[in-house]
Amino acid sequence: MYRIQLMTVTESDYQQPSWITDMGDYNKWPEPHREIDAHRFIHLTAIYSPLFMDIRQIIVGKGLAMLHVTIFYYHHCAVAIVHPTKWTTKKDGPGIEYDLSQCKFYEIGCQHKYRELPQDECRERGISYPIDATRWHVNECETCGHINAYDSSD
Ligand SMILES: [Zn+2]
Repeated sequence: MYRIQLMTVTESDYQQPSWITDMGDYNKWPEPHREIDAHRFIHLTAIYSPLFMDIRQIIVGKGLAMLHVTIFYYHHCAVAIVHPTKWTTKKDGPGIEYDLSQCKFYEIGCQHKYRELPQDECRERGISYPIDATRWHVNECETCGHINAYDSSD
């Protein structure tokens, strides 16, 4: 089981990854970004734990209002939820009920095009590659240069 503790970080704690071309600011999207559906969002968040998150107020699409956006940064991409603005109070209980059909999901960063690197190329380039790892894979994105390494037996 993993538990994640949230703590405030400074800008120097989080370096701009190679797969983001522009971090934007409190009222702008990081670039590049694109809308995705809920299935893609679930797929991207199911495997790894987020490293950082930030909360922004952004005008989404052709809207006029700043919307509440939560961004989760992973080692290879970031995803965002645009929170719904419409809600009602429940008649038969406490709390409020959001209109979840208004939720929007975004993927942020390069659309990686990975190429698997052979072990000898990793050694030549100084990329870590365990000597006895039979299920170790090192992939490099041909677009942004991001390297994703993993053990396929995990
Ligand atoms: Zn890439």
